[in-house]
Amino acid sequence: MRLLVTGGAGFIGSEFVRGLLRSEPGTRVTVLDALTYSGVAENLAPVADHPGYRFVLGDVCDPDAVDRATAGQDAVVHFAAESHVDRSIAGAGPFVRTNVLGTQVLLDAALRHGVGRFVQVSTDEVYGSIAEGSWTEDQPLAPNSPYAASKAAADLLALAHHRTHGLDVVVTRCTNNYGPHQFPEKLIPLFTTRLIDGGTVPLYGDGRQVRDWLHVSDHCRGIRLVLHGGEPGEVYHIGGGTELSNRELTGLLLDAVGADPDRVVPVPDRKGHDLRYSLDDGKIRERLGYAPRVPFAEGLAATVDWYRANRRWWEPLTAAAAPA
Ligand code: NAD
Repeated sequence: MRLLVTGGAGFIGSEFVRGLLRSEPGTRVTVLDALTYSGVAENLAPVADHPGYRFVLGDVCDPDAVDRATAGQDAVVHFAAESHVDRSIAGAGPFVRTNVLGTQVLLDAALRHGVGRFVQVSTDEVYGSIAEGSWTEDQPLAPNSPYAASKAAADLLALAHHRTHGLDVVVTRCTNNYGPHQFPEKLIPLFTTRLIDGGTVPLYGDGRQVRDWLHVSDHCRGIRLVLHGGEPGEVYHIGGGTELSNRELTGLLLDAVGADPDRVVPVPDRKGHDLRYSLDDGKIRERLGYAPRVPFAEGLAATVDWYRANRRWWEPLTAAAAPA
């Protein structure tokens, strides 16, 4: 299979590429990535000499670059995005450009080149916030942040290309990912690196916001199941099965690093902060045999260890990181 992976130098995309070339060695992967602030070429160093791997520096909004990269591919897995909610609150422009326009440019190229499958990688945030229970895949979209709105728009464009043009589109929506190689602006890597450095960590509002945590390797295995076995035009949820409030998670990180609670500094809440996200992922479990494999306690401990051992990776990036 020949695969175009956009955003493959990022946190999740690079895990996907490394895992795919390890577990499906006959696959040929082209990564298209603009290496924005969150794209790290070194994330792909382990596969740099793999005979099935090729890297193309390019922007998903550039129709010529996308056209060249898409020609001859059997499938596209689309990760490239602006993905940090706080940045989208500071300015939505780059989110609309990359997440909406970039997705449309890719979809049009996929259609033109007769690509057999288009996987749109998306998020639980497109549904808004849910106090109790969990969303199923037929839940109407009600995004609250500019980031979530741009992802919802991209998902709808992708599904419209299926319904209108018959493009073989599948959409995955997952919960909060964690693991190694995550840019140190999201909660777990931001707090971990600051605690390792002896600093304080900023906890939004009362810390009651609840998220479900999914190890990045489980997420990528779920995407591979959907890539190979998903039904055209369908949406699949991928969950981790570990719901925690931000306050609870912060407590676990303090314990993991051996830091005192006075290192937590409450800061004014994020504007429009969603209280809780929760996905019902029964569909992918029943139809494609998905189940998360990494127990949260183990995954979190290994992640903290990775940041301890890889200061060289994250230290140059922290200067570019915004507050969580
Ligand atoms: P990331 O910020 O780590 O990586 C994004 C990658 O996309 C980077 O390599 C960056 O260089 C590249 N990129 C950005 N703009 C580009 C452009 N215009 N052209 C080409 N490349 C560009 O993000 P991530 O956390 O790995 O997220 C990947 C995908 O998963 C995103 O679509 C995101 O919405 C989705 N997602 C992430 C999470 C999470 O918890 N991290 C949860 C749900 C969904």
